Amino acid sequence: GALLEMRDVTKVYPNGVMANYKVRFSLREGEIHAIVGENGAGKSTLMKMMFGMEEPSEGEILLRGEKVKLASPQDAIDRGIGMVHQHFMLVPSFTVAENMVLGMEPKKGLGIHFAEAVRMTEEMSRKYNLAVDPKAKVENLTVGMKQKVEILKALLRGAKILILDEPTAVLTPQETEELFRELRLLKDQGHTIVFISHKLKEVKAICDRITIMRAGRSEDAFRTADVTEQE
Ligand code: ADP
Ligand code: ADP
Repeated sequence: GALLEMRDVTKVYPNGVMANYKVRFSLREGEIHAIVGENGAGKSTLMKMMFGMEEPSEGEILLRGEKVKLASPQDAIDRGIGMVHQHFMLVPSFTVAENMVLGMEPKKGLGIHFAEAVRMTEEMSRKYNLAVDPKAKVENLTVGMKQKVEILKALLRGAKILILDEPTAVLTPQETEELFRELRLLKDQGHTIVFISHKLKEVKAICDRITIMRAGRSEDAFRTADVTEQE
């Protein structure tokens, strides 16, 4: 069965725009699955519904076969879904460690101490082989580093499914290579990845399966290996 499934999901915005129409998306455990489509195809809308930022007008979302309602990003996080936003949701004037624990439930009414945040960041950084400096200020980091922080932040919150929104749009070719290596490592560690992109060519290098969206509709997913053979 699927880990995450969008079953005939339709989204009509209040202004009447139908951004998704009966979209079907099925995510298998342990895969890297790309959602590809041109601007306006409905990728962001689908992604927002997977992360509780928008609710479907019609259709169902299933997690491990069970129907779920994702009413907020916190709902999605609680269910092991993490998001790496295209424009990072980090506080620039704060350190990496502070950003890592930002918004996390302090235990028994106590805030998480800076030293503890640094320790947690170092531990996550080691575990996932994502080198970040806990004490660096986010505003001084390259985009590639900021992205690593966002990935670690999602993992610290227990993400098993990681959704990346156009993750390479802001990266240099070298940073892209590095990201791809990291994603393969995460996959080896049992994570499942949704990779949103508007470049089909790019995702072929990293994704196991691809779902193409066109004008708010989804096409059946295909294996990357199959297209590569055809060419
Ligand atoms: P993509 O991510 O593939 O570019 P989007 O999901 O952002 O596609 O957009 C799909 C369609 O929905 C577009 O026509 C877009 O203008 C429209 N749209 C996206 N977000 C909203 C919104 N909040 N309100 C109204 N229309 C929206
Ligand atoms: P992206 O494709 O990266 O989401 P966009 O420029 O399409 O970038 O959209 C930026 C933001 O504006 C998104 O949050 C999107 O949902 C929203 N948006 C897009 N189109 C519309 C629209 N027609 N009306 C209202 N909000 C929209």
